[in-house]
Amino acid sequence: MPSAGQPGGAGTQKVGTQKVGTQKVGTQKVMTRRVEIFDTTLRDGSQAEGLSLTVADKLRVAEQLDRLGVHYIEGGWPGASPKDREFFARALSGELSLASAKLVAFGSTRKAGGRAETDPVMAALLEAGTGFVCLVAKASPWHITETLRATTAEGLDMVADSVSFLRGNGKSVFVDAEHFFDGYAEDPGFAREFLAVVESCGATPVLCDTNGGTLPHQVAEVVAEVRALVRGSLGVHFHNDSGCAVANSLAAVLQGADHVQGCVNGYGERTGNADLVAVVADLSLKLGVETIGADKLALLTPVAHHIAEIVNVTPAPNQPFVGVSAFTHKAGIHTSAIARAPKAYSHVEPESVGNTTHFALSEMSGRASVMLKAEQIGLTLKDEEVAYVVEQLKQLEHAGYHFEVADASLELLMRQATGWKQEFFRLESHRVVTELRSDGTFSTEATIKLWVGDERVMEVAEGNGPVNALDAALRKALGRSHPELSRIHLTDFKVRVLDSTAGTAAVTRVLIDSTDGERSWTTIGVSENVVEASWEALCDSIVYGLLHAGPQPTCAPEPFTSAP
Ligand SMILES: [Zn+2]
Repeated sequence: MPSAGQPGGAGTQKVGTQKVGTQKVGTQKVMTRRVEIFDTTLRDGSQAEGLSLTVADKLRVAEQLDRLGVHYIEGGWPGASPKDREFFARALSGELSLASAKLVAFGSTRKAGGRAETDPVMAALLEAGTGFVCLVAKASPWHITETLRATTAEGLDMVADSVSFLRGNGKSVFVDAEHFFDGYAEDPGFAREFLAVVESCGATPVLCDTNGGTLPHQVAEVVAEVRALVRGSLGVHFHNDSGCAVANSLAAVLQGADHVQGCVNGYGERTGNADLVAVVADLSLKLGVETIGADKLALLTPVAHHIAEIVNVTPAPNQPFVGVSAFTHKAGIHTSAIARAPKAYSHVEPESVGNTTHFALSEMSGRASVMLKAEQIGLTLKDEEVAYVVEQLKQLEHAGYHFEVADASLELLMRQATGWKQEFFRLESHRVVTELRSDGTFSTEATIKLWVGDERVMEVAEGNGPVNALDAALRKALGRSHPELSRIHLTDFKVRVLDSTAGTAAVTRVLIDSTDGERSWTTIGVSENVVEASWEALCDSIVYGLLHAGPQPTCAPEPFTSAP
């Protein structure tokens, strides 16, 4: 049960009163404490450019956040957005069943000069029907007088009136103290008064670094002072404009904050909010603080990728803890050391956050690297097979392949070295036609003929380009025999023309990123012909996805050789 289940409820809050300021921190672990994780992806995070979520998307993101075990899910701003009103209505009418997370509605305090009883935002917050509400209020005198055109006394009254009204209606309330750190620097006396009002009305204060410009040492100083004033739970909310949102969250927890707001994958406007993935992993694995629960930590990678999938943002490969490159080692000088002692080059065990170690192989890789990679995939290669892979890598990388970034194609290449052949389908032929119509638009159509076991399948599909049309045709052709294909799709497609060398024509390198919703992989194709290169990467993507989706089909294959 989240520790601030009843923020402001008399005598119910035990956490947050405990200070860590007197404990030795640094190399020593902070005494086990509990920090609430409050995700605002659906409200603050959805301010990110390029993030546009339907109500159905929001419901699916909320399901994933609950699966991960976050304590609070801020669902949106019902007073400002009809879509968010619909979200709460649908979520609370049975479309969303949460195992443990609490849904929170967000809104501003009542208008200056008005009354909470008659304020439309307050009415929308009540109508949203959640047990928890997060109110935003300006905590900087400058912002109150300049942007609200109100006195600071009225600013405080807006908070007291709104919180009291919501508490009177049975809501538990968080108050996001907007611009708190700037306000504290400007007028610490007012900031203290603000916190006293929030607490005395029975709400939990959340210190917000709205402009994201505060640095960790400043956060530590302010939170230590505030912690001594606030009796109950104390929250923080950081933006990443200085690149310090995660560090600031940790600094605040080390000084006794026990509620951290942020967004999964660090989504948010400008440079984003604190990435809750890193916050949770750092607190849990490095500071010994209980967050989402030890049994949930291994869900960080699949859930982070699943949410990236729903919000349609390509996951950053270098994202700490959960990125595909987070535990990738370039094989070579370190390979044998990593093989002997995997911990030597990883700051945590990748499996602890649901990720895995990857070894990036290239033409520079020797036998030891190849054997290590094979072992990781679960393959046992004979000596001559290892030699074959090493030789293939040299030749193919010379031709323009780059297996360091195409783990899935590399795995298929290594499997082929053992005599393995994919048995999902055999291509007979395909044809792609792009036509410029008289109205000036292009249309592309792909025809594909292939064999699935003894059955010959022919399908035609249209697309917005040759790769899209081929992908659609291949899916149609395989969909009936491999329904699991519906979970697999392409997330990114990159084409690069490589300089011509030694008088040959320029070649095209295509990289395709794919996902099944939880696992992501990259495949590669190289050819002088962009469609051929794309087809190769596409085939590898589908074969790899099917290979890892479940048991292989039992149909007897005819000899079929695909490009590696
Ligand atoms: Zn924010």
